Amino acid sequence: MTSSNELFEISKKIVPGGVHSPVRSFKGLPMTPRFMERAQGATITDTDGKQYIDFCMSFGPLILGHQNSVVKEELKAALDRGWSYGACEPYSVELAQFLLKKLPFVDQIRFVNSGTEAVMTALRLARGVTGRSKILKFDGCYHGHVDSMLIKAGSGLAGTATASSAGVPEGIANDTLIVDLDSEEAVQKCFEAHGKEIAAIIIEPLPANNGLLPQRIEFLKFLREIATSHGALLIFDEVISGFRVAFGGMVEKTGINPDIVTYGKIIGGGLPVGALAAKTRIMQFLAPVGPVYQAGTLSANPLAMVGGLATLKQMTAEAYEKLEKQASEIVKTFEKWIAEYQQGKYAKVKVVRQGSLFWFVPAENIRTISAIPADIAENFNHFFADLLERGIYLAPNAYEVGFVSLAHDQNILEELNKRLWS
Ligand SMILES: *Cc1c(COP(=O)(O)O)cnc(C)c1O
Repeated sequence: MTSSNELFEISKKIVPGGVHSPVRSFKGLPMTPRFMERAQGATITDTDGKQYIDFCMSFGPLILGHQNSVVKEELKAALDRGWSYGACEPYSVELAQFLLKKLPFVDQIRFVNSGTEAVMTALRLARGVTGRSKILKFDGCYHGHVDSMLIKAGSGLAGTATASSAGVPEGIANDTLIVDLDSEEAVQKCFEAHGKEIAAIIIEPLPANNGLLPQRIEFLKFLREIATSHGALLIFDEVISGFRVAFGGMVEKTGINPDIVTYGKIIGGGLPVGALAAKTRIMQFLAPVGPVYQAGTLSANPLAMVGGLATLKQMTAEAYEKLEKQASEIVKTFEKWIAEYQQGKYAKVKVVRQGSLFWFVPAENIRTISAIPADIAENFNHFFADLLERGIYLAPNAYEVGFVSLAHDQNILEELNKRLWS
């Protein structure tokens, strides 16, 4: 097998930066990306033959671990029926029925191919429903690579934004307002200045793409209230938190009902699926019923629908309990190692955990990006390299969270102990 280093050299010549998604590039890290050749359960193996305990888990979709046997059997059976029809099929009906029964806060769902697509459609839908153009987002929340979400704070007052990526027209950036997380006052000011123009507030109710920044429930409740009082919609982007922190995500955990929810990652069990869901009075604005256009050649792909359903059917109440217990034990093991190892070399590193998501950060109680220590990347790079050497794979970036799956069982915990203290 060609080594990771050689593959990266080849790849760099034919693909920008050698990667198909920037976070895979190991930018700033002291080594080149590992090219993964196979995976099983909670482990992943690179083309050099080195095996790692995987805490990236495809950045979230694989809540059951790699190659779950039930999902695998269902996918094999689906393959024998063909893998794309571009026509109505029963598999998306089954998945939609299964989901809607367990998500009582929404009536209808539409499947798309990624989290980005789900957000893009949700924003268009909110604008179509309200007839308004501005979207309020939070600094520190990620919503995929939608033009209007690739923005940063501008120099003006009350939420003004400017593009954070080349290629995003200022006209589009100007229709997004950006404010700090955890600040009722900032949101209030933004509504005072732009209230009549705001179509929707969008938030990751558990921000987990720029570190793990759990929000106060009062803040989330405040967003619900201020949106309603100004005739704006509230969008919960649950692409990462949906089916992760609970089956019904943060909506279930907080009891706060948004107007639109977006899903991705776990909903496809590792196959490309995204979705948006809402009450019928909102969903009926979507084509072909309503005036908001949306479409997809591969939407509700039969293979992906089967992968999603076979995954989600296994996420019972007992499964969530088990996941919580496993994640707690794994994080405790990391904490112990951090505290003991090499006279406190990593003594400053803390572990923030929310269910099966965790994040290494040299501080506590962080709810906004301005509270994240400036030297976090520096600290992380050594930490990451050390763990990689020991056969433990984290997402290769200080701002990405770690994922525990149901495959991270007692055996993996023992193996983690062995590898950490080797
Ligand atoms: C991953 C993620 C997205 C983007 O999903 P893709 O499938 O990568 O396009 C959007 N929002 C949130 C909250 C995410 O975690």
